[in-house]
Amino acid sequence: MPVYSDEAVVLRTHSLAEADRIITLLTREHGVVRAVARGVRRTSSKFGSRLEPFTHVDLQLAVGRNLDTVTQAVTRAPFGNVIAADYDLYTAASVMLETAERLVSEEREPSVQQYLLLVGALRAMVAGEHRPGDVLDSFLLRSMSVAGYAPSCSACASCGLEGPHGAFNPGAGGALCARCRVPGSASPAAGTMVHLGALLAGDWPTVAGVEPRCRREARGLVSAYVAWHLERGLRSMPHLSER
Ligand SMILES: [Zn+2]
Repeated sequence: MPVYSDEAVVLRTHSLAEADRIITLLTREHGVVRAVARGVRRTSSKFGSRLEPFTHVDLQLAVGRNLDTVTQAVTRAPFGNVIAADYDLYTAASVMLETAERLVSEEREPSVQQYLLLVGALRAMVAGEHRPGDVLDSFLLRSMSVAGYAPSCSACASCGLEGPHGAFNPGAGGALCARCRVPGSASPAAGTMVHLGALLAGDWPTVAGVEPRCRREARGLVSAYVAWHLERGLRSMPHLSER
């Protein structure tokens, strides 16, 4: 059986017959891979806790007819240990894993950029230098951008007029000028738009200084933006709904 090596983040696992599990991975070179880990649910498993969600691992996999099989796993960073112990971290990091899987699945191809974004965001969460919610929102905006859904946080997403502008609409691609504004657009505070731009750019000093009400408002807009594009993307690819 041909084997290959890659590094990966464990996205999720589910139990298979007896002591086995199917592990869903975001790999660096092979995109999303679902692989079987044999005997992993036994306490004597050679994999130990290395194939739990959030873990950053070096893997060797054997190519299978349907699913590949994990033959070796070495921990690079046990992010899950810290994340699972903190509810806010766990909630935020879980959304990151789920979003990364959906975005890469849609593309059906390796995405080194998505992979590096995810590893970087997990590392930042565990390091605790920024609020978990800010790391999450920054990750979401940047992963949407890598997937081809970059939001406009300043210039008008419709006509390109330089911002800042006072309207935001997920379906229209973000900020809208007064002329392009469409019904149903949000009217965020100026500080909220600045915060969105800083999250997208990874401008952490600006992110840290935001007013709480703008942070809350931005969080709602980021969620709406991601939800709108993911739902639309999945609708346009009906085969994905079979998963
Ligand atoms: Zn415009």
